[in-house]
Amino acid sequence: MSSPPTTSPPLPSLLPQLSHPPTSTSSDYYYDSYSHPSIHYEMLLDSPRTKTYKSYILSNPQIFKDKVVLDVGCGTGILSMFCVMAGAAQVIAVDNSKICNLARQLVADNDMSDKIEIYQCKVEDLPIENESVDIIISEWMGYFLLYENMLKSVIFARDKFLKSGGIVLPNRCVLYSFGFESDTRDQECEVWNDFEGLNFKRLGTLYSSEPEIDFIEPNMICTNCETIKRFDLMTIKIEQVSSFTSLQTLKFDRTSNLKGIGTYFEVGFTVGPKPIGFSTAPFVARTHWKQTNFYLQNRSIQGVKDDEVKVKWDVGVCEGNERDFEVKVECEWKDGGEYYFKYVIN
Ligand code: SAH
Repeated sequence: MSSPPTTSPPLPSLLPQLSHPPTSTSSDYYYDSYSHPSIHYEMLLDSPRTKTYKSYILSNPQIFKDKVVLDVGCGTGILSMFCVMAGAAQVIAVDNSKICNLARQLVADNDMSDKIEIYQCKVEDLPIENESVDIIISEWMGYFLLYENMLKSVIFARDKFLKSGGIVLPNRCVLYSFGFESDTRDQECEVWNDFEGLNFKRLGTLYSSEPEIDFIEPNMICTNCETIKRFDLMTIKIEQVSSFTSLQTLKFDRTSNLKGIGTYFEVGFTVGPKPIGFSTAPFVARTHWKQTNFYLQNRSIQGVKDDEVKVKWDVGVCEGNERDFEVKVECEWKDGGEYYFKYVIN
């Protein structure tokens, strides 16, 4: 899944306000963003992503042959079509965005309309029988793995529509953290100290408190990588995603000035004879998810090889907008040093 550019309402119009403005919810904005083809181009052309799904589905046809598959958030229908290519008997594809119109045409262009049925609605409202599908496939991952919280909908679909003994694909995900050094943020924030002769420092402070979605060069990583959380899609419960804590010890691998904690995730398809996966780590082929990086705002931690930093995560869905996550990061290191930061991923 590609995280949409924004789930917030657009900037206020310069035109006079209507006395009864149309009421749009953040959910409408979310699904509207997926009705534009451009967001789908980006996802389809993300090779590690698309080719891993394709490779798994086509090289494990025994998993799909004659099965009923539910494609949660089908977008252009690409995963549904791969499943038909692998021999699925029927695919129920659901997406709450208008992209369904294009998906229907693409499915017809590929002569698969007799096998793929597309529903434009939330999977939560899908009018099919309970426990009627053998496989659930979905590409639900967002920035920091969890942003957009679509995993909740996949878990809902699993608990309602999957037959006993059925499978959810991908079936495993792991979220990781690492420490990195970098001067970029400091330089970017400095610009605001004297912006066109004005004091715009406040903007720099705001900027530095936002998580960054960007590529970390492998040589910027200055600690080992540690697991934040493992997700077993067959068993995980909504409550375990909506709120969790985690503690890691990151160890410096050289003398450096740690500026932030970066995160990436791995996605695994480990059911069947030919398991496969992909990673969004800084040291493998780039994906559109980049990495999600939490700067220690304008501070840093000096360390030498083998020094340890304890990192505590407290992650939870934001009240009022269940697609956003609040991430609290607490760093503690020798000499009693301690930093505490709070971020919102939105
Ligand atoms: N499967 C496609 C698209 C993935 S993007 C591909 O791999 O290219 C995720 C899609 O899920 C978006 O199109 C979004 O509109 C849809 N989506 C997110 N939550 C949903 C929900 N609860 N019900 C139905 N569709 C949902």
